Amino acid sequence: MQYALVTGGSRGIGRAVALKLAQMGYFVLINYQSNDEAAEETLQHIREAGSDGELMKFDVSNHDETEQALQQWQAAHPDDYIEVLVNNAGIRKDNLLVWMNPDDFEHVLRTNLFSFYNVTRPLVASMIRKKNGRVINIASLSGMTGLPGQCNYSAAKGGLIAATKALAKEIGKKNITVNAVAPGFIQTDMVDGLDAEALKKQIPLNRFGSPQEVAELVGFLASPAASYITGECISINGGLYT
Ligand code: NDP
Repeated sequence: MQYALVTGGSRGIGRAVALKLAQMGYFVLINYQSNDEAAEETLQHIREAGSDGELMKFDVSNHDETEQALQQWQAAHPDDYIEVLVNNAGIRKDNLLVWMNPDDFEHVLRTNLFSFYNVTRPLVASMIRKKNGRVINIASLSGMTGLPGQCNYSAAKGGLIAATKALAKEIGKKNITVNAVAPGFIQTDMVDGLDAEALKKQIPLNRFGSPQEVAELVGFLASPAASYITGECISINGGLYT
């Protein structure tokens, strides 16, 4: 059995990635924070496609809770390891910096960036032992260009891109690749409330992307076809930033 963990796998991009990895033959561990119904639905989609998976509910922004959940899984699977990790869970809490309260700054940093540390560190240890692994971080266009109203989110995603490059250099010799994917506007719950018509006009392909389109790229990075790609941040944004 080959295992993949997708954080934030209950909805949106994470759900599409979980399904893609399941189709590639992985047993998918679907992490999420609170939406039991959506997580069950992801698992159901995976089973309908003839694959299998398991739900893992924990808050990736919480170090101790994450460590405990991963330790429990490892104790129950002493001979196994998680070969593919997709750090996808994320939130945004937009506001201009002058109006941004400290909780919203910190919450976004903890969920989008500290989670990378919380989840990746314990799992990378077994990848190193096995001399095999893939880490794929879902960053954002916002982390590459900076977007107004997103000082917190841009900082978190920019930090995630830098951490991707640093970790790739640390563990490349162990046959582990570490890459980031930077989506533009993707049609999920996260973009609810944005002025889609106005935004589409700025996108050369004139539409938002789909979670499935992002999942195809993540699937490629997880596949043997991408074995010589590491330390990269690959944009998927309809030409908004190229
Ligand atoms: P959604 O809002 O659709 O889904 C977010 C997912 O993250 C849910 O599964 C949610 O779980 C989970 N999650 C949130 N906080 C935590 C937490 N503390 N612990 C565990 N799970 C958590 O988001 P998207 O699918 O749109 O986004 C996925 C990733 O892609 C994010 O990192 C986002 O920043 C990034 N991204 C998205 C873009 C877009 O346009 N949509 C553009 C660029 C990047 P639950 O269901 O339990 O709430």
